[in-house]
Amino acid sequence: MSRMQYGVTEASAVNDWVEDAVTHADVVIVGLGCAGVCAAIEAREAGADVLVLERASGGGGVTAMAAGHVYLGGGTRVQKAVGVEDNVEDMYTYLVMNTPDPNEEKIRAYCEQSVEHFNWLVANGVPFNDSMYQGKHVLQMTDECLIWSGNEEVYPFREKAVPAPRGHKVAEVGHLGGAKMMELLTARAEALGVRILCDAYVTELVREEGRICGVRYRAFGEEKGCIRARKGVVLAAGQFTENDELLEEHLPELLVDGYTRQFTPYDDGAGHQLGHSAGGSLKHMGGALVTAAFYPPESHIKGILVNRLGKRYVAEDSYHSRSSLFTTRQPDRKGWLIVDEATYAVDPPHYGAYPLVDAFESVEEMEKALGMPDGSLQQTMRSYNRAAEQAEDPEFHKGKKWLTPLDHPPYAALDASVGAATYMAFTLGGLDVSIDGEVLTEEGVPVPGLYAAGGCASNIAQDGTGYSSGTCIGESTFFGRRAGRHAASQ
Ligand SMILES: Cc1cc2nc3c(=O)[nH]c(=O)nc-3n(C[C@H](O)[C@H](O)[C@H](O)COP(=O)(O)OP(=O)(O)OC[C@H]3O[C@@H](n4cnc5c(N)ncnc54)[C@H](O)[C@@H]3O)c2cc1C
Repeated sequence: MSRMQYGVTEASAVNDWVEDAVTHADVVIVGLGCAGVCAAIEAREAGADVLVLERASGGGGVTAMAAGHVYLGGGTRVQKAVGVEDNVEDMYTYLVMNTPDPNEEKIRAYCEQSVEHFNWLVANGVPFNDSMYQGKHVLQMTDECLIWSGNEEVYPFREKAVPAPRGHKVAEVGHLGGAKMMELLTARAEALGVRILCDAYVTELVREEGRICGVRYRAFGEEKGCIRARKGVVLAAGQFTENDELLEEHLPELLVDGYTRQFTPYDDGAGHQLGHSAGGSLKHMGGALVTAAFYPPESHIKGILVNRLGKRYVAEDSYHSRSSLFTTRQPDRKGWLIVDEATYAVDPPHYGAYPLVDAFESVEEMEKALGMPDGSLQQTMRSYNRAAEQAEDPEFHKGKKWLTPLDHPPYAALDASVGAATYMAFTLGGLDVSIDGEVLTEEGVPVPGLYAAGGCASNIAQDGTGYSSGTCIGESTFFGRRAGRHAASQ
């Protein structure tokens, strides 16, 4: 099946405007994920008549697959309730340090308004419990809220910004916090009078005298005509993880066997393509969240990650997508986690866990079995253990609480290599947008009438090495709100 060619058409050539009460609006929003629903609520509250077009038979998008972590800080109600001290400056410094090409204006606004954004989510029905998950986990399966979800305690970030946990999980036992968030925000939008049309597949933007003034859509393969947007169109159509052609161009690595891409069938980058065809520029398209987490069990963080040369390559207490991306950059994308009898633990299997290669009585035997150069792993372990005895790690500065000599044989090698462990991935790049979601051209000029937010826009999250869980939903909802508000004000 050939792919849809998304594009832009001139209003003068349109002869199928749908002119009924249902199908025109002040603000038309393309896609009902967390970005779209937040844009819709804000635009409606600003007085606009809002219509959301959703390609699927119901809203949710990738958001409904998410655990529902939202990266928020600076002193939220939950942080205060559990005794976590945080402030805007530390959050700002941390996010700037973790972002390869930081937009300081956006990050500052995100941090300064983080408490307000938390309060807004709560006021609009999203619940967060006043509790904290105390272990080191990728995704707490409880309904506890706060979790360390990034590199806050990792070197060099901890040196510059006082660490604080900022991952806020929607109050839901298990991994469906994102679905709950969508259900509640969608109900809120509908209660405010936002109109939602499902099975409405947007294929083109309509332009009039240089301004985006509508969209063309289909339903069940049938052309339905064009809908007028009197104030603006907000693209909130999600990521491009499903689209092989776009990946080939921007992120060919994700097409390598061994990566498990996570997407909905409609993650074909429609928003990216629609915006690009109207003159919008794309940014950070080579960025992806790529991860295979080796914790829990958290005792494995006391192990070391080594490549096929027997050398360490990252601080093992890094957030899991950071250590994972470093593994994917090693020769042949190979790596192993080495633990000893004292640190090895068997937890219930979880997504991404590294399979056990074998147990070995000596480091020498393990080095041979893993095909590493003679003496290499032995040397690495000797110097690691020597420093760990002093609770030091001069090479990678792993945090002291994770430092212990690995000197209790037998040793276990767990396979971190791409293809052996399951590396899940989704894309992060999107349309360049202003702080208010206006789609920008290569020259940085807004495309009149056109906005983007969420997975099809580029705001804060740019790559996996600096990613903290919760940033995607955090920025999608935050900048989605701003886009909706700005569009409504036109
Ligand atoms: C398994 C998984 C877990 C995750 N967990 C987290 C987490 O806990 N915290 C976090 O911050 N991030 C998480 N993420 C990332 C995060 O979920 C997404 O970045 C975010 O939800 C994107 O929201 P969105 O509104 O932009 O897109 P989506 O939620 O995907 O919504 C886009 C909507 O647009 C619709 N659409 C697409 N094309 C069209 C079209 N042409 N016409 C009409 N409608 C269209 C789609 O059907 C979809 O409903 C996770 C991602 C995955 C894959």
